[in-house]
Amino acid sequence: MTKSLNELSITEAASGLRAKEFTVRELWDACARVAQEKNPELNAYLELFEADGSAMAAAQERIDTEGNAAPLLCGIPLAIKDNILIEGHVASAASKMLSTYQAAYDATVITKLKQAGALFLGRTNMDEFAMGSSTENSAFGVSRNPHDPSRVPGGSSGGSASATAAHLAIAALGTDTGGSIRQPAAHCGLVGLKTTYGRVSRSGAIALGSSLDQIGPLAKSVADAKALYDLIKGADPLDATSIDETTYPLRAAKDTLVIGVPRHLLAEGVDADVRTAFEATLAALVEKGHTLVEVSLPTSGYALPVYYVIMPAEASTNLARYDGMRYGKAVRGATLLDDYLLSRSEGFGPETQRRILLGTFVLSSGYIDAYYRKADAARDVLTREYDDAFASCDVIAFPTTPSPAFKFGEKTDPVSMYLEDVFTVTANLTGMPAISVPMGTVMRDDVPLPTGIHFTAPKGAEDLLFQIGAAVTNETL
Ligand code: GLN
Repeated sequence: MTKSLNELSITEAASGLRAKEFTVRELWDACARVAQEKNPELNAYLELFEADGSAMAAAQERIDTEGNAAPLLCGIPLAIKDNILIEGHVASAASKMLSTYQAAYDATVITKLKQAGALFLGRTNMDEFAMGSSTENSAFGVSRNPHDPSRVPGGSSGGSASATAAHLAIAALGTDTGGSIRQPAAHCGLVGLKTTYGRVSRSGAIALGSSLDQIGPLAKSVADAKALYDLIKGADPLDATSIDETTYPLRAAKDTLVIGVPRHLLAEGVDADVRTAFEATLAALVEKGHTLVEVSLPTSGYALPVYYVIMPAEASTNLARYDGMRYGKAVRGATLLDDYLLSRSEGFGPETQRRILLGTFVLSSGYIDAYYRKADAARDVLTREYDDAFASCDVIAFPTTPSPAFKFGEKTDPVSMYLEDVFTVTANLTGMPAISVPMGTVMRDDVPLPTGIHFTAPKGAEDLLFQIGAAVTNETL
C-alpha cells in the first residue's frame, strides 16, 4: 500500500523530493489539505499558516540544484508548538494572557529550520504555558488523540503529537520541562526526544522552568527525531546555558548496549498491560544481543515531589513578567494593584494560577529552606544516583507512562494528573537526555492504544538513545 504524501516520514519525504517523485508544493498541499480537513475535529493546530510561496520555491530550487547535499529538512512541512516564537506569528502558549502576542523574532531553532529550508504549517495547541499532561489546560479547547478522539493526546505538547500522529504534519517540535514531549509521544505512538540540558538553545521558547526546559522533536521514526535533533542542536550566543558537542566526552560506539532496569520502580502503579508490553520489548532487545541489568534508584520515589517544588518555583518567577504592563493581556482597574490583579486573574487559567501560588509559597522567605532548598538538594542526590547507575549500564529503561492515554475529564484532581509524569521528570531534574519510542499497543474499549518505552542516557549521550530506539523500532540509522 503506498502512503499518501502527508503520511511520509522526514527521511521518506526527503528522498521522494530528491527523486522528483513529487514537488515541495505537492508535499505541502497534501499536509495542508488534510490539516484543514481534520483539524476541526482534532484541534491539533491553534492556527494554520498560509502557504509561503517564496520559501517553497527556494526549497524546491535548492533540492533541484544541490540534490543530496541539500539539508534533509529542506522543503519539509512541520508543526510548531505554540510556545516557540516564529517572527510575525502569534505565539500564545495557549494562554489568554498572550492570545494576541506576535513574536518579534525567531527562536533559534526556527532560524536553524528556516536556514535549512523547512516549512511551517502552523502552531499547535498545548496546555497553557506548557503546564499539564493532556491539553485540558489550554485556554483554547482540548486537542484529541487520533487513535481514539475520546482520549487525550497527552501534554503539554499534545497538539504537536496529535498533528504528527494524524499526519497533519510530517513532524513537529515540542518542549519538555517534565515530560511534555515524551508523554504525548507515548500516547500518540510517536518518537519523542528530550535532549541533554543545554544541547538545544532555549532562545525564543516561552520560558516555563528555565533549568528544566528543552525544545525537541516529536516524529514518526527514530531517524526523523535524529534528523531534527542534528539540525537544531548546538551552542547559541543567545542562550548562556547552551552547550556544544565538546562539553561531554564522546563515548566509543558499541554494537550492543547494557540496559539498566529499575524494577523496584515498576512494582506498583504501572498498568498490567503496559508492564507486559514493556517486558516484551525488553525481551526483543535481548534477542538482538543487548543485555539487561537490574539497577537501583532509591531516591526516584521523591522525583515527582521534587519536580513539583522546583518547577512551580521557576514557573512563578518566569510568569512574573506578565504583569499587564509590558505585554500580554492588560486589564485596567482603579489602582496599579488592581491592574496587576485583574490582568493576571483574567489572563491566567486555574492550573497556571495554582502553580504560581505553589511556586511563590515554596520560595517565600519563611519556607524556602523547608521546600525549595530541600528539593534542590534532592535533585543533586538524584543526579548522583543516576551517575552511579550508569557505571553498570549504558541506558536506563522504564515505561514512559504508567498507563495508556486516558479519557477527557478522567483526572480532575491535580495530583492524579501530576502522576502522569512520574517516570519522565527525572531526566529534566538531572539534565540527562531521554527518548520515548513506541512499544506496541494495549487494548482499551476495543481500541488499540499506543504505549512508549523510555530510555535515559548519561549527559551528552543522545547517540545511545538513537541506537537503542532504532533497535526497538527495527530501523537502521
Ligand atoms: N506534565 C508536566 C507538568 O505539568 C510536564 C510539563 C512539561 O514538560 N512542559 O509540569
